[in-house]
Amino acid sequence: MAHKMAKNMKYETIIGLEVHVELATKSKMFCGCPADHFGKAPNTITCPVCLGLPGALPVPNKKAVESTIMLGLALECEIPLESKFDRKHYFYPDLPKGYQISQYDQPLAINGSFGNVRIRRVHLEEDTGKLQHATIEGEAVSLVDFNRSGVPLVEIVTEPDFRTLEEVDVFLKKLQQIIRYLGISNADMEKGSMRIEPSVSIRTLKTEELPLYRVEIKNINSFKFARKAIEYEIERQTEMLESGEQPKQQTRGFVESKGNTAAQRDKEEAHDYRYFPEPDIPPMRWKSSQLSAISRQIGELPDAKKGRFMKDYYLNDYDATLLTEARARAEYFEKAVSIQSSVVSPKAIANWIINKKIDLEKVTPAQLLDQILQSTQTTSVSDNELEKIIKQILSENEKAVEDYKSGKDQALMFLVGQGLKSLSQKGNASIIRERLINAIKSSAQ
Ligand SMILES: [Zn+2]
Repeated sequence: MAHKMAKNMKYETIIGLEVHVELATKSKMFCGCPADHFGKAPNTITCPVCLGLPGALPVPNKKAVESTIMLGLALECEIPLESKFDRKHYFYPDLPKGYQISQYDQPLAINGSFGNVRIRRVHLEEDTGKLQHATIEGEAVSLVDFNRSGVPLVEIVTEPDFRTLEEVDVFLKKLQQIIRYLGISNADMEKGSMRIEPSVSIRTLKTEELPLYRVEIKNINSFKFARKAIEYEIERQTEMLESGEQPKQQTRGFVESKGNTAAQRDKEEAHDYRYFPEPDIPPMRWKSSQLSAISRQIGELPDAKKGRFMKDYYLNDYDATLLTEARARAEYFEKAVSIQSSVVSPKAIANWIINKKIDLEKVTPAQLLDQILQSTQTTSVSDNELEKIIKQILSENEKAVEDYKSGKDQALMFLVGQGLKSLSQKGNASIIRERLINAIKSSAQ
């Protein structure tokens, strides 16, 4: 092991990602068939367009285009004022037309960034059908299901900016989170709605240029497999370099059962696809007013929400991170906090949601507050003891006191929470609240 690590210290891993995400639109990308194909009987949601029958004409799905632009904006991309669809040609049984409608040189979004990772482009295309390999009457056969054919698919391409597996992991999870926040896809990896294609290459340390090759690993459908596939490639390529061999530019597939990758084909270049503009769909041109309207649909993204929760509700980083993990949970929390009659602090609500694992689908925010209040016992705290604690809270939390004086109700909630904490949850929230208000009033005079 020590030997291997010493070897690896000579090299640096370069990883880029292509991520495919199926959009949760009602209908498919270029026809009226339903886009939700998961679990449907094979070939039951198809029509001449998504079966690629001659003469059938594609009509782009407006919602899918807007969703792609939303994602592009959320990833801080530029949105070129003109964009178009192209035909990408290749022959495979899951592609009935012999070409895929995709975007080549004028994608919907370009030059973005997400954290430290540069986003090269975000483009829109159609998904392919799906092959199933089976044995029927003792014979190995391949069956094709076109339900998925024509489902809107967004492709996000990063620059090769990752150096470690951890960076890849963090990026993918944040990307999935943001896609779910935008409500444009469930990004469910088990259902194949989010698929990952990492490109991996190795260079010796202190080299500036990118390696002359890269190995692309196709269609990985879990974070765990992505990790395994990249780990395997790092090892395989390092061994090759160590023995003086040059790894080849290649497309490889991840083999789940063995946890390794296997060569599929030597990597094709763009000209192999004979791209040309899709003649049946006119180019898209945007007015800046249209882009602003799409931008307004984005709403508050996870990092901004987290920052606001920390500021507005006096939550620590940990609580704010967990509460904003999913949009539904964050919204539930804010609903509970906004119930004005309540004297439960945001911190207490956060604790209950996080630690008691409340089923947010079954317990309404109002019911949650009742539960919290009932659990707060109202036992004997002497008046002197309470007086002392109130004074202490006020002197230790001047900022919150000032905030409350300037009209911020949440600040009072925070102070009540501090009181409950000092009394190890034995105090009565309404009494603490009243005493705090009186103390602040009399100190102001
Ligand atoms: Zn169709």
